[in-house]
Amino acid sequence: MSCKQTTLGAPIAFSGKGLHTGAIVSMVVLPAEADRGIVFRRTDLKGGPEVPALARFVSDTARGTTIKQGKAKVSTIEHLMASLWMMGVDNAVVEIDAPEVPIMDGSARAYVEEIAKVGTVELEAERRYFEVPERVTFAIEKKGVEIVVDPAEEFSVDLTVDYSSQVVGRQFIHFDNSVDFATEVAPCRTFVFLHEIEILLRLGLIKGGSVESALVVVEKPISDRSKRRICRAFKKEDIEVENGYLNHSPLRFPDEIARHKLLDILGDLALLGVRFKGKVTALRPGHLANTQTALKLSKLLA
Ligand SMILES: [Zn+2]
Repeated sequence: MSCKQTTLGAPIAFSGKGLHTGAIVSMVVLPAEADRGIVFRRTDLKGGPEVPALARFVSDTARGTTIKQGKAKVSTIEHLMASLWMMGVDNAVVEIDAPEVPIMDGSARAYVEEIAKVGTVELEAERRYFEVPERVTFAIEKKGVEIVVDPAEEFSVDLTVDYSSQVVGRQFIHFDNSVDFATEVAPCRTFVFLHEIEILLRLGLIKGGSVESALVVVEKPISDRSKRRICRAFKKEDIEVENGYLNHSPLRFPDEIARHKLLDILGDLALLGVRFKGKVTALRPGHLANTQTALKLSKLLA
């Protein structure tokens, strides 16, 4: 099967807060020529330094995936990367005026909507498909994390999340080419456990966050004091707990958390830089395991 590389039909623009820094970010995704891949360009820095969205440039995986080359550093790229990959965009330059991709509503919905509006155009060059030649494994045994990629005819993911949480518990999700990414995966929001929020606030890691841009999982009853602190931090008059989630917005899917983890792994595996045929089996995956798997796969690329 022969297939051409693509790029966006027209530029698309986004503006919003970075989840971690709280800075207002303007981002424009521009069409690009064949074999450019996905490249981020920091327009706020002198000379507009660039960093390619490839696994070897990953510099940090704490609460999101960060890539860095020289002065060009961009965080939380995974939801945009998943959207570009799954919506069929092979080449694009992402101009961004801050160190972080805007979090939008915590999902990739805004990205897929804008990509769908402008569509993709074919370029002259052939698209490359990487056929995984042998089993690739990455594991963090202490944490029960394991990702296995096996050779296969098509790309697919089987993903299991398993939290020692009464609310989340064990969730399983399957993805292959028959699943509609835009409606089944992209709308699923990022999540955080309530007990982590106060730590994150103290460390200054979620300044831009709000209860609208993340699902908040509540394991235990909240004390009035804790409730007041959270309300103050998120500038809310009141908060409620419904079925274990702190939110004014209902779950978009009963297994929204597993679906979001799927969104994350798709975005991180996109850092391989080419589409690939392989069966991915992921147990309790996170950004470190995802990007290390992409790095291992990239070493097999000729
Ligand atoms: Zn995510």
